[in-house]
Amino acid sequence: MIEKVVILSGSGLSAESGLPTFRDAAGLWRQYSWVELASPEGWRERPELVLAFYNERRAKAWVAQPNAAHLAIASLEKKFDVSVITQNVDALHERAGSTRVLHLHGELAFARGTGPGRLRQRIDGAAIEVGQKCPEGTQLRPDIVWFGEETQHMEESRERVAAADRVLVVGTSLVVQPAASLVDFAGPRARKVLNSLEMDELPAGFEFRPGRATAVVPALVNEWLAD
Ligand code: NAD
Repeated sequence: MIEKVVILSGSGLSAESGLPTFRDAAGLWRQYSWVELASPEGWRERPELVLAFYNERRAKAWVAQPNAAHLAIASLEKKFDVSVITQNVDALHERAGSTRVLHLHGELAFARGTGPGRLRQRIDGAAIEVGQKCPEGTQLRPDIVWFGEETQHMEESRERVAAADRVLVVGTSLVVQPAASLVDFAGPRARKVLNSLEMDELPAGFEFRPGRATAVVPALVNEWLAD
């Protein structure tokens, strides 16, 4: 039977593609608070600021290229049934070739209406402007899960993690909930590896492989493909 692999990824995976992590936040993240930039309250008060922030992130993410770790993860599909569950809002997993990707915190490449239909449309790297509306007639907003909003695909993600034979956690500090709680659903018999630069508290049963994802992940993937 084909083994099931789950990848749980965070912003550290895309750091070497030039996209700053949550902690190494630059630019507007430093100038303004999370509430001003990434919450329903911030959106109500200063939509133009929120749009400018996401327009800049989207443009940067659009020109970024998948790195060796994204590519190695995609190559696991040669041998395994792979599910990628990511906190990342960039599309670097898909662009590296991964075919089954769940985005817990939404996607920069999509906009959606603010009405009940939440009509979604692909915008790739394009900006969203104040006054730009969806077909339902409501203002477009980034299709991103803001603080205080519901994380997407959690039930399906829990099931996939629980059913996995191997789990690789990469590039996340495991501080943002409920995404971080997914590691607790990994089965006792699953092979569990965590890669990041540092980790204060390793989740139970995980082997820690410290270092840059572009070095650690391709090496691990080669081991797994050769098993
Ligand atoms: P975080 O900043 O809290 O943690 C980053 C982790 O990655 C740290 O453990 C760090 O040691 C590790 N890391 C940094 N560089 C690395 C590298 N080169 N190789 C391996 N590991 C590396 O990030 P998080 O846990 O993903 O926090 C999450 C929030 O930030 C999420 O909500 C996510 O949506 C959002 N975010 C996403 C992106 C993106 O889509 N690229 C970028 C910034 C923030």
